[in-house]
Formats: sequence, C-alpha cells, structure tokens
Amino acid sequence: MKQAIEMALSKIGDETSIVKWESVSGGSINQAFYVSTGKQEYFAKLNRTAPDGFFKAEEKGLNILSSHGIRVPKPLVLLPRGETEMVFLMEWISPARSNKQSERSLGRLVANMHHNTVDMAGLDHSNYIGELHQENNQTDDWVTFYRDQRLGIMQDIANEAGVLSGDRDRRLTKMRERLDLFIGHKPDFSLLHGDLWDGNRLVNENDEPYLIDPAVYYGDREIDIAFTYLFGGYTEGFYAQYDADYPLEKEWEDRIPVYQLYYLLVHLVLFGESYGSAVDRILQKYTT
Ligand code: ADP
Repeated sequence: MKQAIEMALSKIGDETSIVKWESVSGGSINQAFYVSTGKQEYFAKLNRTAPDGFFKAEEKGLNILSSHGIRVPKPLVLLPRGETEMVFLMEWISPARSNKQSERSLGRLVANMHHNTVDMAGLDHSNYIGELHQENNQTDDWVTFYRDQRLGIMQDIANEAGVLSGDRDRRLTKMRERLDLFIGHKPDFSLLHGDLWDGNRLVNENDEPYLIDPAVYYGDREIDIAFTYLFGGYTEGFYAQYDADYPLEKEWEDRIPVYQLYYLLVHLVLFGESYGSAVDRILQKYTT
C-alpha cells in the first residue's frame, strides 16, 4: 500500500519521503489514509476491487462541483490499477468539529450548489453510488429519469443480488408505474451531490465546510435533502440556512419517502437485509 502511495506521490513530483501515514476511518468502500511527506499533507484512497473508472468518476464529480464554486478537496492524482491497487490522492482537509457556524455555512453551500440548474436531468457520463453503477442518461422528464435510471436500474441490480423477494419486486414495479402521482411536481434540474449522507461532509479548522465523495448529476434537489434526513446528523442550523437561501416547496415532505427509497435500495444491495424493513415500509405505503 505504501508503495502504491509512493508511486502516486512521485507522479506529482513529490519525491520527499513519507514521514507519516495512518489509516482514516469513516469511509464505507475504500481504504483511506492520511499521508504526510517532507513537503505536504495528503488524503489517499486505495481500492483493489472497484470497477476501473471508479476513482475517475469521483474525480470528475469533484471537478464539476469545484468548477461551480463548491468547496471540495482538490484532486491531485489518480493511479489506475496496475501492479498495485488503484490510488486517488487529494488535498488533505484537516478536520475539525462542526459547530453552529459551520452547519449554517454548509446549508448555504448546499443551497448554492442547488442553485446551479440546467435544462436536462442526468449528466454527460455515468458514475457510481457506493460501488454500484449509476446511469445518468440525460432527459428533460424527471419522473422518467427517477423511475427508470434510479429506481429501475437499482431494481435490476437488487434482483441480480437476490435481495428483492417476489413481493418486494412486484410492489416496486407497481410503485414505479404510478410514480408521476407520487412525485407530482416538475422540478428544476439542480446540480446534486448525489450521496449526501452525514459521512460525506467535512469541516476544516476555519469552520469552512467541504463536500466529499460525490455521485454528481442534475436532478430534483429534494433528493439530496431527503437523503440528509434518512440517517440524520445534520442540524437545525443547516436546514434553517438552506431554507432561507433556497426555500423548499410546501409539499416537498410528501416526497421524502419516494426519494429515500433509492438510497435504501442501494443500502439493501450493499449492506443487506438490515435495510429490508425500511424498504418494505415505503413500498407498502405506496402500493396498498
Ligand atoms: P469512501 O469512499 O470509502 O466512503 P470517503 O471519501 O467518504 O471514503 O472518506 C473516508 C473518510 O475519510 C471520510 O469519512 C472523512 O472522514 C475522511 N476524508 C475524506 N476525504 C478527506 C480529505 N480530503 N481530507 C481529510 N479527510 C478526508
């Protein structure tokens, strides 16, 4: 592992030796390390098993966000899988505890991100949610996008993984058929983080929030916010600032379960049946 990191460092011209490297916890997919050399500190992610384009997609997502002024760690170098594992080296963000100020700033950051809108949902390339493929074919119809490219593709992946019982599968198909009723609005297509759980934000020592590990595309901004509510960790201050900067529609809360369903299906595939009952509750709500 150290050898792989050294190869990545030499690619960016840091030939000084590694002074310290230690594992960083908190991620769910990759091995993560703090690395410091005679020259600089870095954050390194390593992966042996993910698909080839996995880190490339993350790098592209980070670059899209940063090109819209959204604070993310700066990508430095990617090492494809070769003799060693894949390596992704980026700027190290010295982490601090979040506080009222940083939570409000994060609310503003996410609202700023969502204020970037385009004419089509999707993106010009596919990417990953966790290690799962995420298709982003562009369309101007949000219900079609969410029905087919989010719920539909995840239904196929879940079926292949054997985590949808016959009843789950039937209900999911039924819910997808009536999705226009449950979504019931025509959203703008906002720049989305796409994987906005609590573990994918950081704050530095100056109380400045960063977004990390995105699964970027354009779509209904409510899906990002719905995901923040799924596992929690975001404070009142975050939501108050977000809503002050970019108010949500009054009926948006009705759509929370519809949008959380995608992430629950992803978790069902990645982490197993402990997410099954939450999936079932939503499916039952919309298919009785
Ligand atoms: P994974 O893709 O495996 O989920 P993450 O990108 O979420 O990995 O990173 C794992 C953990 O490492 C995060 O929860 C965060 O605490 C920390 N981390 C991520 N990026 C940085 C960074 N640029 N600087 C410092 N710490 C980071």
